[in-house]
Amino acid sequence: MTPLRDIRAKFLDYFASHGHEIVQSAPLVPKDDPTLLFVNAGMVPFKNAFTGVEKRSQPRATSSQKCVRAGGKHNDLDNVGYTARHHTFFEMLGNFSFGDYFKEEAIHHAWTMVTKEFALPKDKLLVTVFSEDEEAAALWKKIAGLPDDKIIPISTSDNFWMMGDTGPCGPCSEIFYDHGPEIAGGPPGSPDEDGDRFIEIWNLVFMQYEQVEGGERKPLPKPSIDTGMGLERIAAVLQGVHNNYEVDLFQRLIAQSEEVLKAKAAGDQLASHRVIADHLRATSFLIADGVGPSNEGRGYVLRRIMRRAMRHAHLLGAQEPVMHQLVPALVAEMGDAFPELNRARPVIEETLRAEEERFQRTLGRGLSLLEEASSGLAQGDSLPGETAFKLYDTFGFPLDLTQDALRAKGMSVDVAGFDAAMDRQKTEARASWSGSGEAAPDTVWYSVRDAAGATGFTGYTALGGEDTI
Ligand code: ATP
Ligand code: MG
Ligand code: MG
Ligand code: MG
Repeated sequence: MTPLRDIRAKFLDYFASHGHEIVQSAPLVPKDDPTLLFVNAGMVPFKNAFTGVEKRSQPRATSSQKCVRAGGKHNDLDNVGYTARHHTFFEMLGNFSFGDYFKEEAIHHAWTMVTKEFALPKDKLLVTVFSEDEEAAALWKKIAGLPDDKIIPISTSDNFWMMGDTGPCGPCSEIFYDHGPEIAGGPPGSPDEDGDRFIEIWNLVFMQYEQVEGGERKPLPKPSIDTGMGLERIAAVLQGVHNNYEVDLFQRLIAQSEEVLKAKAAGDQLASHRVIADHLRATSFLIADGVGPSNEGRGYVLRRIMRRAMRHAHLLGAQEPVMHQLVPALVAEMGDAFPELNRARPVIEETLRAEEERFQRTLGRGLSLLEEASSGLAQGDSLPGETAFKLYDTFGFPLDLTQDALRAKGMSVDVAGFDAAMDRQKTEARASWSGSGEAAPDTVWYSVRDAAGATGFTGYTALGGEDTI
């Protein structure tokens, strides 16, 4: 069995031996890009090279980029624990050409990588092309010798990539691996394509146009290549397992959570172990890159991921903080490739411990309230927004945590009711504020509480807030 770390190295070595500079992963918090929550694809750190703003000394690069998809345009948080292929944190392997080679060479490299270097059987592979990209279809036929029915034209935006409303854009081709008929799901483009039988392993983007304001699309004088392959997905294929969470790295993380929690990763408990392993990675890497739990922006995404993991640990019987006890196993797995994990280890452990201690003060009682409130509901019903708001405001349950808890029972939350309750509370808090010329009370409350952070600030209870009980 090829270990995950060797797969990463093999990919980078192949492209290095074909003239690509190996570039270290950029941090998860994007540099100079307030519009983006987290780096969510391998190309993000190279944006300026693609637009020509930055001139790189080498026109080819390869990387294994840390990615988080847990908010904004790409949000896979709700897929974790449900699909075989999604993580909140994952590594995206990629090769990039900045105005150097284009479509033919990109397809040639991708095909060589999967069928020669990784030795995947051709009959397990199929590709998609953008329906208007006849050039790509012809190249797949020529280079890979795939029959027509394995080159699937797709006309949706899934196969047309755009950097933004304006800027570089172009068609893409995705490579899928067929995990076999015993798994539910149809091929790309079919009605049940979201199943996990045909799993997308690699996306090749052919940047050949520039979208200018006003709808016009001009051909780029020097087209570029951007590709992204999920390391955990190709590892699953190469290790002969179907589910990403069965690859070696995850097996070892899950073995550790089994030991710490004294709970087997089987039956009903399996999904919780997987969620914990996934969220452990996301939170540890985010903290290592300088994000701390808070009530807004990036910090709130981190807090939501942490607390979701903690609810699952609670389901598995945790009575005391456990997440920080899993950090050594993660560092053992990934510290070599990502030295920042080693450096930040004390901060990661302390942040996790403090957040879990804090959330454990309200988690159990919040779950009892949720249990009680949902016991009168039937499948398909939704929890009143007021109750979800109370869980948020008094017990520190992010809305999506409550939704995640209810989803297992086939229930949802009345989100409009939740929003209304939130607005009402803000208005009331403002109206009862007798100060003059100072900041509104919720602003004061949040800034004081955030400054107090994990030390357990409990003042200003009259103003409400998620941790004030
Ligand atoms: P999917 O359709 O399966 O959600 P995607 O089309 O959203 O994948 P891309 O944006 O094309 O994915 O990203 C490039 C590659 O990164 C994908 O082909 C896949 O191998 C990997 N990838 C994307 N999202 C995830 C994720 N949440 N977890 C693990 N790997 C992922
Ligand atoms: Mg996706
Ligand atoms: Mg896709
Ligand atoms: Mg894709």
